[in-house]
Amino acid sequence: MALFDGLKENHEDYTSYLDWTEEDKLKYMEMAYKEAERAFEEGDVPIGCVIVDFDGKVISKAYNRRNRDGNTTSHAEIIAIQQACKKMGDWRLEDCVMFVTLEPCPMCAGAILQARMKKVFIGAMNSKAGCAGSVINLLQTAGFNHAVEIEKGLMQEKCSTILSDFFEEVRKENNI
Ligand SMILES: [Zn+2]
Repeated sequence: MALFDGLKENHEDYTSYLDWTEEDKLKYMEMAYKEAERAFEEGDVPIGCVIVDFDGKVISKAYNRRNRDGNTTSHAEIIAIQQACKKMGDWRLEDCVMFVTLEPCPMCAGAILQARMKKVFIGAMNSKAGCAGSVINLLQTAGFNHAVEIEKGLMQEKCSTILSDFFEEVRKENNI
């Protein structure tokens, strides 16, 4: 009986994220946005990301640190995945979803796919580098052994405005 209860619990855990209300989702995207603001303050392109498990527990949070670290791979999503793997003690994040303020680039979409994450919630789209449908859809490509669900347009305007504000500031500083 105890075993059965355990299985039932696990099953409920597995589907609980599907019941999230719009408000729940916005709460996590707001957390990702707060991370993007930290990147802005530190002079990096404002992109933030949060990884959440199916129960709604926040596993990791990160922001883009490419300039700060002087490292090509210091994107918000990569840092958040590294932290989540460390915390979970597993390279598989199949019971997790990601909230990210900007559509992932090829490197990050690749890492999300490799981590076998279940779903990615995206704020703004990225017509120049986005790999969740804009340039290509790496997350849902026939032939790979895994596909990642995508939900676009969560807090899109806010996530996009912080980026244009950042680039406007950079232009002003450089007198362009
Ligand atoms: Zn990236």
